[in-house]
Amino acid sequence: MGYIVEMGELYLAGNYKREKLAFVKGSGTRLFTEDGEEYLDFTSGIAVCNLGHSHPELVETLQTQAKLIWHTSNLYYTAPQAKLAKKLVELSFAEKVFFANSGAEAVEASLKLARRYAYENFGKDKNRFIALKNSFHGRTLGALSVTGQPKYWEGFEPLLPGVTFIPPNDKKALRSAFNEKVCAIILEPIQGEGGVYPLEKEFIELAKELCEKHNALLIFDEIQTGIGRTGKLFAYEHFGIEPDIMCLAKALANGLPLSAMLAKEKVMSALKPGTHASTFGGNPLACAVALKVLDIVSNPSFLKEVDLKGKILKEKIERLNEEKTKIIKEVRGWGLLIGIEFSISADGVYKKLLERKILVTQPKPNVIRISPPLIVNYRELDFFVENLKEVLVSLK
Ligand SMILES: *Cc1c(COP(=O)(O)O)cnc(C)c1O
Repeated sequence: MGYIVEMGELYLAGNYKREKLAFVKGSGTRLFTEDGEEYLDFTSGIAVCNLGHSHPELVETLQTQAKLIWHTSNLYYTAPQAKLAKKLVELSFAEKVFFANSGAEAVEASLKLARRYAYENFGKDKNRFIALKNSFHGRTLGALSVTGQPKYWEGFEPLLPGVTFIPPNDKKALRSAFNEKVCAIILEPIQGEGGVYPLEKEFIELAKELCEKHNALLIFDEIQTGIGRTGKLFAYEHFGIEPDIMCLAKALANGLPLSAMLAKEKVMSALKPGTHASTFGGNPLACAVALKVLDIVSNPSFLKEVDLKGKILKEKIERLNEEKTKIIKEVRGWGLLIGIEFSISADGVYKKLLERKILVTQPKPNVIRISPPLIVNYRELDFFVENLKEVLVSLK
């Protein structure tokens, strides 16, 4: 091990539980350490590098834009930002786009927009949020306040008041949480950090219905599920239900910091000049890359392929249980966002895959999440399943 890990340990804040691993280069589904050791990346940097590492077209796009312009502030317009907004509108339910830099910032913007929209149209008492238990929306105080996992709150309270948490897919709780004071409900179509739990269609349908009835807004946090991850460009397409506001981040610019909040014009019009802003938001470098990302990912045949790869991978993992070992409790998810829940701790599986130089994430103690780059090939999927099989057998 070289000096990078030691230097990082000396000088970086200790807020992450990092592996003693430093990568210096990436290519496609592979990451390389400074000694040239090769890892298979089935995390995509937590569902960020959906087109893999160092995608040639993205590198070229970034280089071209780097020679043109890096930053102007939002006092002016830039071509990449305007073109990306147009593209996002063409590809979604939305009519207007606000850009920021991270997932949490997009969530913050959505909470502020929901309150402001309610304030302008229905008065200042309509300011409450409904959010789901086990959700994850980010670490800033506002986003944390709608994140339904108390372990993340410890030592940071008091949080934003006015949030009611209900269990995911609990329609009765959803009905009783709604009233005229609710300005919005925020949901992830699949709870990613919560352990890869997809929401049920009937629950989403009811949320939509109640939002309409009570003049509240439906916010989808698609920060993890968007940009092709689930086999559709946006996960809301699986339900056939459009949100009022959608948050995007992670894979939007394949690793450059960029997030977006999308809405219909009627809703977004509540953000008048001076109501909200971001200095870096909609940075030309990130927007130029995101435009290219969307060109590639929104291609129907690309998305079909993601869906197919996901189905094959899920089926092969499910089959491992029958053949070899019974420690898999459930395999969940859509497209290439898959959670494997074990009847025992997943620590051993995680560690043994890492020893085999395969990177996955462990969002919950007994869950392994696999989110390979969407460009992963069938051979790599088989390689993963074969290794997982050997690991499970060795743990039996
Ligand atoms: C990652 C994530 C966030 C937070 O994004 P950051 O860029 O880390 O602020 C919010 N919501 C969901 C669903 C996420 O997966």
